[in-house]
Amino acid sequence: MGPPGVGKGTQAQRLAAACGVPVVATGDMFRKVRLENSPLATKVRECMDRGEYVPDELTIQMALDRLNQPDARKGFVLDGFPRTVPQAEALDRRFGAENRTIKCVVLLEAPAEVILARLTGRRVCGRCGRAFNSGANAPRTTGICDDCGGELARRTDESPEVQRKRLKVYQQQTAPVAAYYLRSGRLHAVDADRAVDEVQSDIRRLLSSGAVTA
Ligand code: AMP
Repeated sequence: MGPPGVGKGTQAQRLAAACGVPVVATGDMFRKVRLENSPLATKVRECMDRGEYVPDELTIQMALDRLNQPDARKGFVLDGFPRTVPQAEALDRRFGAENRTIKCVVLLEAPAEVILARLTGRRVCGRCGRAFNSGANAPRTTGICDDCGGELARRTDESPEVQRKRLKVYQQQTAPVAAYYLRSGRLHAVDADRAVDEVQSDIRRLLSSGAVTA
């Protein structure tokens, strides 16, 4: 977890690839849902385009269904879920009933000005979803994805106005989730104001340390 623009998606993708487990990113799931022609898609578009969260009941059902797919039974990296205390509670309740556990929550931290600069420079591949930045994580060729050659574009929910709103919503609704995991000893903060590889090494060191073995 961490504020928008802190590098969750990039770190989650690398970690999941290294561990051989899927990334479950509710933001990516909602970006697919919003393209459909349904009342749910209309609701999701409205929330995303305002920089607000999708209602808990929709989000919880979608995320928990995904975590029950066979590929996620042996482990997963969550990205962008849970983002509210009711979501975190629902996840613990469901997992408690199934003898599964969220062992480790990584909180990526960076100063506000770094986050704003990253959000402004963020470009995402329309084909494979990989995120790039104008800074340390820039693509080799401007506008083109290093991995699949897809075209890079700004996310539709990332106008400067929406970005400011998303940061505010994060402070109001998601910062309490960090406190929730801190209370149960599962929260581990990592300094994300460094090169992508350094942040990734710290996360892996954390996961392989005694801090996380249940
Ligand atoms: P992300 O790609 O994780 O930044 O998510 C993009 C947008 O999808 C968010 O601004 C929300 O509108 C919606 N979204 C993603 N995850 C959640 C969540 N766990 N709870 C509510 N809304 C979410």
